[in-house]
Amino acid sequence: MNSPISKIDLEGRVFYVKRDDLIDPFLAGNKYRKLYTLLQTLSDQFNKIISYGGTQSNAMLAIAAMCKNKGWEFIYYTKPLSDAQKNEKSGNFYHAKSLGMLHVEIEQQFYKDFIASLRFNLDEKTFVIDQGGAVEEARLGLEVLAEEIRAQNLHVKSLATPSGTGTTALYLALSLPEYRVYTTPCVGDVDYLREQMSALHEIPKNLTILEPQKKYHFAKPYREFLEIQQKLLSAGVEFDLIYAPSLWKCLIEQTNEETLYIHSGGVSGNESMMRRYAQKGFR
Ligand SMILES: *Cc1c(COP(=O)(O)O)cnc(C)c1O
Repeated sequence: MNSPISKIDLEGRVFYVKRDDLIDPFLAGNKYRKLYTLLQTLSDQFNKIISYGGTQSNAMLAIAAMCKNKGWEFIYYTKPLSDAQKNEKSGNFYHAKSLGMLHVEIEQQFYKDFIASLRFNLDEKTFVIDQGGAVEEARLGLEVLAEEIRAQNLHVKSLATPSGTGTTALYLALSLPEYRVYTTPCVGDVDYLREQMSALHEIPKNLTILEPQKKYHFAKPYREFLEIQQKLLSAGVEFDLIYAPSLWKCLIEQTNEETLYIHSGGVSGNESMMRRYAQKGFR
């Protein structure tokens, strides 16, 4: 089943949105695409998945949903959490634990070495997914997305999707050389994003990295992010509050053609982000 395309009006312009957010409540957006290869794997090939990272992670939630479907055990390592974080009754971490995720804290001083040693002595039924799903296995799922975009045959020549590790934007651009692909770094700066992408593959010419006009820190609340998110909501589509606002700002400020925005999911994290906006007095 192909995800549908919505048309929205924003700031007097027309944009199209590929609704990958509608694929599943938890296993959606680019995490669905990046986990595609694993999702196609027979259940008896593995019995355990290991990953690690932050507790707001959309990848964590998507992996938890996948493991629940497959009957795989899921162990997720983080640095130590506060009691408040552990006891939250909403948000990605809460939902992932409800789906059966086993959470293990690793002391700050051992964390780096511990993560580096995850692949030592693995048995063949265990699979390790690096933070954010930045693995070469992600490529196939992005090729499937590329085929859907081609088949939907919209008149636009430009695509857009925001970057964390850059895995999604990179493989999308490689799979669709006939389109221009816009992205922007939401973690670190342009140089950091180029570095991350280059570790996976040479960056193709049709990939354009837009630089935000202001420096934003990852996953922090910003008044202008909330403003653009609410304009998008009025236009008819809910986007995440961490990645999408920065790219939408860049698209409005730095481009002028009709563009198909690939919704990267993450809407399930808005509940806890909205709490942080409220704490900051932005609401
Ligand atoms: C993970 C994520 C991204 C970043 O994807 P990368 O492939 O790591 O660049 C963008 N948007 C949302 C909503 C995400 O959850």
